[in-house]
Amino acid sequence: MSNLLNIKDLKVSAGEKEILKGIDLTVNKGEVHVIMGPNGSGKSTLLNTIMANPNYTITDGNIEFEGENINELEADERARKGIFMSFQSPEAIPGVRLQDFLRQSTQAVTGEKQSIMKFNKKLKGEMDDLKLSEAYADRYVNVGFSGGERKKSEMLQMKLLNPKLAMLDETDSGLDVDAVRVVSKAIDEYLDKDKSIIIITHHREILENIKADYVHIMKNGKLLMTGDDSLIDKIEQDGYEWVE
Ligand code: ADP
Ligand code: MG
Repeated sequence: MSNLLNIKDLKVSAGEKEILKGIDLTVNKGEVHVIMGPNGSGKSTLLNTIMANPNYTITDGNIEFEGENINELEADERARKGIFMSFQSPEAIPGVRLQDFLRQSTQAVTGEKQSIMKFNKKLKGEMDDLKLSEAYADRYVNVGFSGGERKKSEMLQMKLLNPKLAMLDETDSGLDVDAVRVVSKAIDEYLDKDKSIIIITHHREILENIKADYVHIMKNGKLLMTGDDSLIDKIEQDGYEWVE
C-alpha cells in the first residue's frame, strides 16, 4: 500500500477558536508535500494536530496513518508509528544533555536498545554532516543554541529517528544561506522512495536538493489550491493575495 497519511475533512479548534475548517490531504509513500500560506493561516496547527499536540482539539474529520485512524493516539504512540515533527520554535530542555536526549528518544521511538558507544559514533557522524560541532552533544538540549543550531538539532533527531513521515515547520527560518544548504542536504539524505515529507516554508532555497511533488496553499484554515513545484515561484513573485 503506497498510501501513508490520509486526512479527511479535518476541523480543529484551540480553545473557542476554530482554526482548521475542513482539510483534505493525502500523502503517499515517497512524496514531498510543501505547504505555503500567509502567517496565521493554520499551517503549524495542521502539523501540530497530526503530531497530537494537546493544545489542539479535533472537532470533526479523521487522520489515518497507514490505513489506521490515529485520532485518539497520543504523541508518543504516533512517534512510534513513524511520525516526526520538527518544531517552528524548538524548546530548550535545561539539565538534559543533547546526546542523552537523542539516545533516549531514539530508544523510545524505535524500541531498540542503543549502546552508548555505538550510538555516539552514529551521532558524531550525523553531527559532522550537519556541520554541528561535536561539543554540542554534551550541552543541554537547545540551551544557548542559536536559532540555526536549534533547527540543526531537530534535523539531527530526524536523521536518528528515521521516521516514515517527517513534518518540518519552517525549518529554514532563521538560517543563513549556508545553513539552509546543509539542512536541505540532510533532508535529501533522509528521503528515499518510501519516505514522505511535509514541509512548511516561505522560500524555495530549502528545496534546492529536493523536488516538491505537490505544493499546497493554505489560507484561513483551508487548503485552497494545490499545484506543482512551479507554484513556489509564482508565490515568491506574486505573494498570496491572488489565491482564493
Ligand atoms: P501559521 O503556522 O499558518 O502561521 P498557526 O497554525 O500558528 O498559523 O495559527 C493559526 C491561527 O490560530 C492564528 O490565528 C493563531 O493565533 C491561532 N492559534 C494557534 N495556536 C493557538 C492556540 N494554541 N490557542 C489559540 N489560538 C491559536
Ligand atoms: Mg506556523
